[in-house]
Amino acid sequence: MILRTITLSFIGLLLCQIGIAQSLRCGHQHAIQQQTHQHASYKQVVQQTFNQAKRRTQEANSRSQEILTVPVVVHVVYNTTEQNVSDELIYSQINVLNEDFQRQNPDATDGREMFQSVSGNAKIKFVLADIDPDGNPTTGITRTQTEVESFMDLSLDNIFEAIDSCGLDVTSQEGTECLLNALLGGTGTETEEEGLQLDNVKSSATGGVDAWDTERYINIWVCNLNANLLGQEMPMVMGFAYPPVEAPNWPEGALPTDLKDIDGVVIHHQAFGVDNPNAGLVEGIFKKGRTCTHEMGHYFGLRHISGDGDCASDDGIGDTPAEVATQNPDLNPNVICSDLHSIDTCPEDGLPDMIENFMSYNPEACQNLFTIEQVDIMRAMLEGPRSGLIMQQTTNTISTELHQAFTLYPNPANSQLNINLEGYHLSDFTIEIQNVVGQQLLSAPAQSFMDVSQLKAGIYLVRLKGEEMEAVKKISVIR
Ligand SMILES: [Zn+2]
Repeated sequence: MILRTITLSFIGLLLCQIGIAQSLRCGHQHAIQQQTHQHASYKQVVQQTFNQAKRRTQEANSRSQEILTVPVVVHVVYNTTEQNVSDELIYSQINVLNEDFQRQNPDATDGREMFQSVSGNAKIKFVLADIDPDGNPTTGITRTQTEVESFMDLSLDNIFEAIDSCGLDVTSQEGTECLLNALLGGTGTETEEEGLQLDNVKSSATGGVDAWDTERYINIWVCNLNANLLGQEMPMVMGFAYPPVEAPNWPEGALPTDLKDIDGVVIHHQAFGVDNPNAGLVEGIFKKGRTCTHEMGHYFGLRHISGDGDCASDDGIGDTPAEVATQNPDLNPNVICSDLHSIDTCPEDGLPDMIENFMSYNPEACQNLFTIEQVDIMRAMLEGPRSGLIMQQTTNTISTELHQAFTLYPNPANSQLNINLEGYHLSDFTIEIQNVVGQQLLSAPAQSFMDVSQLKAGIYLVRLKGEEMEAVKKISVIR
């Protein structure tokens, strides 16, 4: 018994080291494998949906240009207080999504010149839902305490089966990969039969919280995905998401019957938000909120740019260079991105690996772009199988003239915000103040000043709305 415990502790430590060093980061591929195992045609349906989206992007005049707004609900499912991520952390994550999907990320131009010309703006705007499925006002955040300590529940059987089928060679990449895959149930071992019940977080019956209508809301579940092995916390998967599917005529059994209940994005609480204060062992590695950007890419139908294989495997996207899966460097919090520029796992295509891509498997500090074709696919998915998400747009046009005529001072403001509008009548407009995630806080007929003393310190959007046109300015409020 003692020997067994010592052995297990040793294995635990080893696995822990692999976990951190190699971190499987994204469980997308495993989620797909698991569904395919139970529903033989699942992969095919996903592929067909991708092909349809691709065709749509190639049709002339099919491309819309406007910003598409989608509502998000964040379900925080926590066992400990540390897992109960703060509102501020959630806002920071929504901000990152908005920056990355509207190409407003401050590091947008940090990438190499050669990739700037293929960088795309997805023009997708994420807002926390302000109306719940029952029509009631909401913050777009739900909080549920759970008995479940982690939704990455590795049993000892899982572990021994994995070691049985792979051995315990942690010195080679193949050995560690085999172990991680087997632990996650992706190698065709018995483990795969049961699979890891990562989707448990999506049902109140299994310690999680039920999805809000997945056709109308993007559900993001934030929970603990650390494996606990004899007291060792082992980070394995930082997040996963299911791709869109659009295939109404598939035979029974081709698709999981509960697909609508499990659609959405799951993020490990330690990889959620910007500068997560409880990042634990992954501190500094996943601090920029790009795990969620990456998973949202999967949610909108993108694959890893490696195609999860060798140089011959493809992500179906023409403007991402070929690269080999997992042969990229470890996730180092102090990485110097230019040190990675020489990486070229598939020299035949004449381009180095695109470490800048959000869908690559590289340090998030070096990621800063989606390509134009990736953006096209995501928008085609949003306007196709995910169109139920698109929120009613204002019919107003954003007016440059109005924007120039509209001034706010002082900025930063503290109590009174003065509004000046040259050449128009203020009385023809209303003023709305929104926070940075799009929630409306104040609305009033426009006057020459506005009381902002009730607002907390922070950045706000001031929207001047007329009958047919509007303008938006940013202010900061200080306290
Ligand atoms: Zn991924």
